[in-house]
Amino acid sequence: MPYKTFGFTPDQVLMRDSILKLMRDVLPERKLTELEAQAAYPLEAHQAMAAAGWLGLGLDEAWGGTRATQKDLAVFIEATSYHHCAVTSVYMTNVIYGGMYIQGIGSPEQQQRFLPALIQGKLKMAVAYSETQSGSDLAGIRTRAVREGDDYLITGQKVYITNAHVADHLIVVAKTSPEGGHKGMSLFIVDTKSPGLEIRPMNPMGRRMTLPNEVYFDNVRVPANCLLGGENQGWRKVMRGLNLERVLLAAASAGQCMKMVQVARDWAKERVAFGKRITEFQAISHKLADMQMLAETSRLHAYAAADLLDAGHDAVLETSMAKVVGSENCVKCADLGMQIMGGAGYMDGPMSRAYRDVRVGPIGGGSSEIMRNVIAKSMGV
Ligand SMILES: Cc1cc2nc3c(=O)[nH]c(=O)nc-3n(C[C@H](O)[C@H](O)[C@H](O)COP(=O)(O)OP(=O)(O)OC[C@H]3O[C@@H](n4cnc5c(N)ncnc54)[C@H](O)[C@@H]3O)c2cc1C
Repeated sequence: MPYKTFGFTPDQVLMRDSILKLMRDVLPERKLTELEAQAAYPLEAHQAMAAAGWLGLGLDEAWGGTRATQKDLAVFIEATSYHHCAVTSVYMTNVIYGGMYIQGIGSPEQQQRFLPALIQGKLKMAVAYSETQSGSDLAGIRTRAVREGDDYLITGQKVYITNAHVADHLIVVAKTSPEGGHKGMSLFIVDTKSPGLEIRPMNPMGRRMTLPNEVYFDNVRVPANCLLGGENQGWRKVMRGLNLERVLLAAASAGQCMKMVQVARDWAKERVAFGKRITEFQAISHKLADMQMLAETSRLHAYAAADLLDAGHDAVLETSMAKVVGSENCVKCADLGMQIMGGAGYMDGPMSRAYRDVRVGPIGGGSSEIMRNVIAKSMGV
């Protein structure tokens, strides 16, 4: 039992145990090290998740999916992240960022075309919002989509787009009206084989199995039936998904924290210095206690926010807090874990990998600063 399942339903416990077992079989430590060194996408894990039905979790039964509560999704994501954040990234980019948008705002034709194939692992998706000039300030994007007959022509540049290099389709946000701010934004489903579209993988500090990419659009022709959710409706649609995104990023952080606690504790219990196990030094046991508290706090925030969403609350305050607490606790846990393990932590392995992987948490998906702005606003200040 890697971590406690208090408050989980029997089905949620089963779900957690099943995905953990599947990933231990398909993506063992040896394979993780190999793929990480090659910066290779975990395709086998993607396909195994599809074959076991996990890529339908949260999507409608009509497309071959399984309906899920927000808590179910949080339980699932905590488990995938406990195994490795690359597994979470596979699920998030395809199902949460790709599938859920198409399910939520896509036309029946778009749903029929994309969702069964996505659930079966036959197509991969990624989401392209960020640009060099506008990350946090999404309303400032410059990529334009101009209507021409039955098509739109997209021109612009995106950056940091996770998994775009392996994706068959991108969900792209572009300006369709010269109106300022968020008013003229629209979403498109863009085939990555389209002429004029170029994708260049980037060289990140961590998470190297699920690379970020630069994406260039030079008059990319997109049929009008690939407009997702109506012209100039993009902003409202993006905002609608933020609570779920934040709660799942919080659950992901909880899983990563729990894994680091386990790695550091197991190693420290075996390590001997000055004739004693290092856990007998209070300086070490207190660091482990701090890691445990940071991890448990992340879990409590994530699951409380998920419960509120399931109860129908617009829990902006709670999902934002959960995102900050989880991602920042992860960074603290990585630092403590590294210190506990000394040189062994610094060398290639689960702790040094986690140390590099978790640092993006307070940056991506709404930075800690932006989240604190949202929290303060929710407090009426
Ligand atoms: C590994 C990785 C993967 C990513 N994957 C994707 C993806 O798949 N798709 C996608 O679209 N994007 C992706 N992103 C982009 C990510 O969402 C942005 O990096 C994030 O939104 C921050 O934008 P920025 O990097 O441009 O920083 P900036 O917005 O330039 O911010 C720089 C600093 O200023 C602070 N700041 C900015 N505005 C304010 C403010 N109003 N108040 C206080 N502080 C502020 C920020 O918090 C930050 O500390 C990814 C990024 C990374 C690093």
